[in-house]
Amino acid sequence: MAEQAEIRETLLKEKQRLEQEVSELRLSAPQDRREGSPFGKREEEATEAADMEKRLALEGKLSALIRDIERAIEKLNKGSYGRCDVCNELISPERLEALPMAHLCLRCKAAQDKSAPTRMRR
Ligand SMILES: [Zn+2]
Repeated sequence: MAEQAEIRETLLKEKQRLEQEVSELRLSAPQDRREGSPFGKREEEATEAADMEKRLALEGKLSALIRDIERAIEKLNKGSYGRCDVCNELISPERLEALPMAHLCLRCKAAQDKSAPTRMRR
């Protein structure tokens, strides 16, 4: 496994990148514009609402990732990094390499995905 200092650096960099992305997302929010043709206005508003929804969803996803990273850094500090939060087994190095902020082993992750409510899906 990679050195802990190296992992910490990777996590911190990723966190910075995500925070940057969140602030850019906020800055790119549409300004309140009043001009434009009277036709198709409703359509335009609907598009903006959908954009807003997408942006919020993305922001939520990024914030969740940032929280995961903060949690992983905490685990590094406590010396429990690399262990599954649920079963306390070691998470496979391949998985940690692909997803350094992973808190669950593949088995527990799969179980969690299964039990999570699947909204907006039929
Ligand atoms: Zn587990």
